[in-house]
Formats: sequence, structure tokens, C-alpha cells
Amino acid sequence: MASTTKQAARAALPLTDRESFAAHLKKCRRIVALVGAGLSAASGLPTFRGAGGLWRTHDATDLATPEAFDENPDLVWQFYSFRRHMALKAAPNKGHYALAELSRKNRDFITLSQNVDGLSQRAQHPPGQLHLLHGSLFDIKCTDFYCKYTREDFTDPIVPALAIPKKSSLKNNEKKEENVVAQQTDKPYGDQEKEAEEDQKVGDEKKKCKEENKDESDEEIDISDISNHIPNISNEELPQCPECKGLLRPGVVWFGEPLPTTTLETVENWMDSEPIDLMLVIGTSAQVSQLRATLMKPVTREHE
Ligand SMILES: [Zn+2]
Repeated sequence: MASTTKQAARAALPLTDRESFAAHLKKCRRIVALVGAGLSAASGLPTFRGAGGLWRTHDATDLATPEAFDENPDLVWQFYSFRRHMALKAAPNKGHYALAELSRKNRDFITLSQNVDGLSQRAQHPPGQLHLLHGSLFDIKCTDFYCKYTREDFTDPIVPALAIPKKSSLKNNEKKEENVVAQQTDKPYGDQEKEAEEDQKVGDEKKKCKEENKDESDEEIDISDISNHIPNISNEELPQCPECKGLLRPGVVWFGEPLPTTTLETVENWMDSEPIDLMLVIGTSAQVSQLRATLMKPVTREHE
């Protein structure tokens, strides 16, 4: 189906058009590319937008807010941990590499990305020519207003509690529960020696169970599907700030938050310095009002 779509796209763009585009591109010096989710969709990343784009029962826009994080940091972190995991499993595609290569060949080619998935960075896009309008899943920052702690972090899972559950771990949990029931019924209360033996047995059983299930159920569970259970995670198990012990959060721009001021200033200065020869709009609807708002002044985020 994908190749049919590609063929259709090629057919829709006649060779002469592609040649004239290439010729025009070569003539242009100051170029700006605005990229969005469509670029990374070609790498197989879900966008969680539109019909069927829900994460569990939630629209992504409901989870990507400071209020959602305040109310339910556990759920919001599980959503972002899933997205980090998916992004790391995906690979940059030809589009990411082409933009990176064009940027290397032309220092006056900048890219404004609305994507938070890190794929452009992994395609070795020159950092000085890549401006992330919505932050990154792999920038982590403190939620405390007065604490400025931030770091880049590609660890997956970022903390053990946020590991994507596997089918084998579910089976182990079921087995563990069975063992707990067996312990409660079979053993006299307070018999410590016997308890230690039982613990050893449970440990052996778990190990055996893990080995048995290793091959057949090492598959990850799709936690974006509501029918799959996700654990409750306490705040203590979520990523903590090493400086103030507050909760850390993903360094993405949430709905209602301002776009990164420094990034916008850099882009504005670049745009004001000389006329732009060409603007490429890739994988985004780039509605004029949003584009103007994004490029002309620091506004709050309206779209992912
Ligand atoms: Zn902190």
C-alpha cells in the first residue's frame, strides 16, 4: 500500500516539475524548511492525531498540557515514555537525511521543526541549522518553577517503572500472584525459616517462568490500546530532579505553553537579516495564521 502511495505521489509530480524544482532549489541560497509530523509518519511514527489516533482513550491534545501533568503525572509520563520508545525504535527516513545533507551543503538553509521525535538529530542534521519549535522528547526538565535543571536524555526507559511492559512480565505477575495465594494458604504464620525457603522457591519459580517465556512472550505490549493494562506508578518512581527532588517532565512544548523564546528570536533574526529565497513546507498543514504566529512573535502553542 505504501509503495502504491509512493508511486501515486511520483505520478502526481511529473518529471519536468521535479527537474524544474531541482533547478530552482540550486539557484536559491537562503532557504527555510518548515517540517511537521508528516515527515516522521514516513518513518512509521504514529501521530495520535485525527480519527483512530487516540492513545488509550485519550486524545493526545488532552495529555499534552501542564494541567494533565499536574493531575496525572503517572499517565502523562507513560504516554511520553511510550512515544520516546517508539521514536527510538524508528529510524530517520530519506526526508530527514535529505534535509540534513542540504543543510550541510548550504549554511543558509535552516529547518524549523515541529517534531519532537529526535529523528532529524539522529540523521545528523547540523544542530545550528535545526530549530525545534516544540522542544524534544529527549530533553528533560524540572517542573519546579525556580529550578532550572535540564538535561538531554536518550535512556529508554528513563526510569525502570516506565519500561514498556512485556507479555512475559504479565505472565510472571500472574504466576507471582498465584504464589502469594499459595504462600498464604499453605504456611503457618511467622515461620521465618519456612518463609525463607518459600521465598527461594518463588524466586526459582519466577526465574524458571521467565526462561520459559523468554522466546515466546518477549513481545512488548501495545499500551496505546486501552484493553492492555498499565500499572499505577507512584511519583517516587517517576523521574526525579537530582537537584531539588521535584518531578522531571518531558521538555516538549505543551498546549497553552509559550514556544521557546530563544529559538524564536534566533529564527526571527535570521529571517530579518536578508530576504528569503525559498520556503519549503513538508509534512505539515502550515496554516498561514499558525505560520505567521510561529515565525513572527512568541505565542502560545496551537498545534502539535
Ligand atoms: Zn529541580
